[in-house]
Amino acid sequence: MRCRGIGIVKQTCQLVVIGAGPAGMAAAQTAAEHGVDVTLFDDQAQPGGQIYRNVDTSPLADTSLLGKDYVFGQPLVQAFRHAELDYYACTSVWYLDKAREIGILKQGVSHKISAQRVIVASGAQERPMPVPNWQLPGVMTAGAGQILLKSAAMVPDNGVVLAGNGPLMLLLAWQYLRAGVNIHAILDTTPKGNLFRALRYLPRALAAGNDLWKGLRMMLSIATARVPYYHCVSELRAEGDNQLQAVSFSAAGRHHRIDTDLLLLHQGVIPGLHSLQEAGCKIDWNEAQQCWQTKVDAWGETSLSGIFVAGDGAAIGGAVAASLSGQLTGLQVAHQLGFLDAGRRDHLARPIIKARDRQLAIRPFLDALYRVADAGMIPPDDTVVCRCEEVSAREIRDVIALGCIGPNQAKAFTRCGMGLCQGRFCAATVEQIFAQQRGESMADVGHTSARPPLKPITLGQLAETI
Ligand SMILES: Cc1cc2nc3c(=O)[nH]c(=O)nc-3n(C[C@H](O)[C@H](O)[C@H](O)COP(=O)(O)OP(=O)(O)OC[C@H]3O[C@@H](n4cnc5c(N)ncnc54)[C@H](O)[C@@H]3O)c2cc1C
Repeated sequence: MRCRGIGIVKQTCQLVVIGAGPAGMAAAQTAAEHGVDVTLFDDQAQPGGQIYRNVDTSPLADTSLLGKDYVFGQPLVQAFRHAELDYYACTSVWYLDKAREIGILKQGVSHKISAQRVIVASGAQERPMPVPNWQLPGVMTAGAGQILLKSAAMVPDNGVVLAGNGPLMLLLAWQYLRAGVNIHAILDTTPKGNLFRALRYLPRALAAGNDLWKGLRMMLSIATARVPYYHCVSELRAEGDNQLQAVSFSAAGRHHRIDTDLLLLHQGVIPGLHSLQEAGCKIDWNEAQQCWQTKVDAWGETSLSGIFVAGDGAAIGGAVAASLSGQLTGLQVAHQLGFLDAGRRDHLARPIIKARDRQLAIRPFLDALYRVADAGMIPPDDTVVCRCEEVSAREIRDVIALGCIGPNQAKAFTRCGMGLCQGRFCAATVEQIFAQQRGESMADVGHTSARPPLKPITLGQLAETI
């Protein structure tokens, strides 16, 4: 792998891959192995993405406390580091259009380049979990807590409350216990009845390998550690004046309050769609995963010719499925660029498709088990929905009552989604509020559009784009 400084970015690339997580690394390597000239941009300092963050440059004395799945990433990242491709770390992609023009920012310098093919492997984001006062210092996401653990070996020093649901919350609780962290309580918001509804997918999930057993082992070790665990939690609120002081909630018909200065929220991950929405790819609502997804063909090509998406940025499937889907897009790009004939491509793809489908067999069970209740996505009036622009749920409901036609017009009315995160942490909530207030489906409400820049860039940098 040729680790590149900034001065030598090619203006025209054969294949640009965005993201060095499992999907991006696999797509880039697969295409490069077949002779494609690959350029990969990632905004992190090291390859590995979310799951394998800092796996081969870890600040932790003992990485095994993060579990086998994490350590499994070491040889993958090592192989990527030795692959024949151009890798740009600390480089964020702030623009992508349907003509495959790309804007990148590295070391404060912005460049515009073009590519024959683009693979977007920019991963997932945590689903917003708007609860009253979540804007208080001391309230973060479980993903943020895990990033601090993986990238800086930092753990809560004064105890923590974890609230929400989903595999990542469970995983972090298990990792924290192995790191000796005091977990005050786990507040599980999984609605009653979800397990019953998920049971019909259990046989397929059991056939899908050991992910389910891994999850059960984690739950067992949390129970053995006697961490206070509350089920079917609702009416969750963060409490405090200028700083988080406590969390209150209802469970088993009773009201509870726990003092804490750290609350980590999590209710699943959803595809990070910004660059694909901004380019104009067709996006559909997936009711089973309660999220928007890019419309793709069997190889991950979107509705825009030459733009592909792979990994959790396409559909939530986890790290192994992400890597396999990256390999498939890499093969198709090599084929489209004339490096691989269709017969050879299909021959190489067959075992990959089989392995990917096996990996994904657990999804219907997990999607049903961790389905988020409406109350988890549609907050009470006094909740700040857009923390960047401090827009409350009440304000959104008011503009709807005034006749605002949809989430994009709500942006103009209230500025929600026009701040630093560009709607990443409010768009899903605004869309859900529209659907509820209007009695419409999410597909009818439609998704919020994304505009450049995708990532922060100064006007000066923009003006001096090379
Ligand atoms: C916060 C978080 C923590 C997670 N932790 C785990 C875990 O511990 N275990 C697990 O099994 N699963 C975890 N997941 C699920 C995770 O999505 C998958 O396991 C897996 O990492 C998906 O691989 P991917 O290649 O699709 O995306 P990712 O691994 O997310 O890689 C995408 C890469 O693209 C980069 N990127 C994104 N946008 C841009 C841009 N505009 N410009 C340049 N670079 C960009 C990102 O920084 C990242 O490095 C986590 C998800 C999240 C959101």
